[in-house]
Amino acid sequence: MSDDFVIGGELIQRRSRRLVELPLPPLYTHTPMTLPVHVVRGAKEGPRLFVSAALHGDELNGTEIIRRLLKQPALRLLRGTLVAVPIVNVYGLIHHSRYLPDRRDLNRSFPGSVKGSLAARLAHLFMTEIVHKCTHGIDLHTGAIHRSNLPQIRANLDDPETARLAESFGVPVLLNANLRDGSLREAAAEQGIPMLLYEAGEALRFNEVAIRAGVKGVISVMRNLEMLPASRSRRKARPEPFVARSSTWVRASASGLFRRVCSLGSRVKRGAVLGLIDDPFGGGESEVTAAASGIVIGCSEIPLVHEGEALFHIARFEDIREVAGQIESFQLEHAPEEMLETIGQDEPPIV
Ligand SMILES: [Zn+2]
Repeated sequence: MSDDFVIGGELIQRRSRRLVELPLPPLYTHTPMTLPVHVVRGAKEGPRLFVSAALHGDELNGTEIIRRLLKQPALRLLRGTLVAVPIVNVYGLIHHSRYLPDRRDLNRSFPGSVKGSLAARLAHLFMTEIVHKCTHGIDLHTGAIHRSNLPQIRANLDDPETARLAESFGVPVLLNANLRDGSLREAAAEQGIPMLLYEAGEALRFNEVAIRAGVKGVISVMRNLEMLPASRSRRKARPEPFVARSSTWVRASASGLFRRVCSLGSRVKRGAVLGLIDDPFGGGESEVTAAASGIVIGCSEIPLVHEGEALFHIARFEDIREVAGQIESFQLEHAPEEMLETIGQDEPPIV
């Protein structure tokens, strides 16, 4: 890889910081559209890391994570290049929508093509202008609308370098996720670029724990890559994260009003009641039970459900008691002051 960093036809010098606007197809209102990209180059050559958010246009925690990341004073000491794209799906974001105006999912449209759909064209631009110029990547996501995710890293942990970066992110839960067709992660992996996907919180909401953990996580990965100097504070070493061997969804056994009796991060036993679904017109009550023992890493936030809808995502671990303990200390570490009163007073519920 040459020493020069050219993006959108602009040469970005070492020891400089630029906002580059990559041209995109305009809106049909004649409104011009661009993909804004922050490029921060250190004095010395080093890894080139891209950090992207809002590939799904309604997933906003990552956009805030990047905003805070770019304000870090430590970036003055950067080695290598940080390429930050706070809003990839600029079209979706305008409409608070996960998708593009052509109703395609950008994260199923990679690597894209010049002559393809709007989604394919945006994916192609992202590949040629960002991914091909970088050595590593982190893509920031949240749960879908009305669904919350416990902060977690999904990555191909069979690749040793990806696994090392995933562990350095500092969240307690890692999912060895199979690559999905058409995702940015798959397309980057095909280019030999180690990539992490951070999932935390829910769509269209800020979640302070998810944001703080995300900012810290990206910085930890940058330290691991020696893009930033090691932390001077001698905090005790972070415990090793737990890798889920597999995960499973618990679906609604009936349609109706849904009440949860467990929360994100709860340790659950197979067969335990996780929630109840009531018929609002006086029919019976159905129990939603855990299909496997594990930790609740995703859950529905809306009390209206149809039979068959996914309500809980449970990750299986060897030792769920230990995982639950680590999740609680993680939440305490990242919680803002005003939240501390509500966290950690009790053991995570065992249901
Ligand atoms: Zn997403």
